[in-house]
Amino acid sequence: MPAGRLHCLPGRGIIGAVKKAGYRHGGKGKNMAKLYFRYGAMGSSKTANAVMVQYNYKERGCNVLMLKPRIDQRDGERIVRSRCGLEAPCRYVEELDEIDLTDIACVIVDEANFLTAEQVRRLVNIVDEQDIPVICYGLRTDFQGNLFEGSRELLRWADTIEEIKTICWCGRKATFNARIHEGKVVREGEQILLGGNSQYISLCRRHWREGNLGTFKDLNLAD
Ligand SMILES: [Zn+2]
Repeated sequence: MPAGRLHCLPGRGIIGAVKKAGYRHGGKGKNMAKLYFRYGAMGSSKTANAVMVQYNYKERGCNVLMLKPRIDQRDGERIVRSRCGLEAPCRYVEELDEIDLTDIACVIVDEANFLTAEQVRRLVNIVDEQDIPVICYGLRTDFQGNLFEGSRELLRWADTIEEIKTICWCGRKATFNARIHEGKVVREGEQILLGGNSQYISLCRRHWREGNLGTFKDLNLAD
């Protein structure tokens, strides 16, 4: 393990808990790093968490590589941006082979549900072969309740799986994502909708099954 990495622990950012995992045995050794999958429904502050964890590393003088998958062929903004305004520059997962990981203390991946199985295996290699912790943030399931490819693979391969919680309008934990088009819940369509004007709302299972938007109906869905 490169010098200086031991004090760079995968913290939980704004969740605030001191992270016990990562270097459980506290000493040097091979294969100590872990692959983390932190999943949550839409609006559970996953990106804000990712940016905060990056900040915590940087504050300790550690280099972090922030990544996101390129979900279409266009070359978009290399920025991860949370709803609350926190943002950070990033690279695309597709660019990993061009990036020198020598002094990287941690890799953080936003929108990890969009990873391919092959990309997840690449991240597993970074953890196991290079002993660098990789923290992935993403959705568990799509608007139809099916696992995303990236999420399925992360659930298979991650050492540590953690849920980032948010709530439905009824106060229960929101675990499903509804796709909304013109104020109505949509059940059919492509898993990834690019350039559409649909929105997503997280609901508890019961209200997702009923398509019941409750008081969320009154929200400005464009937010
Ligand atoms: Zn509910």
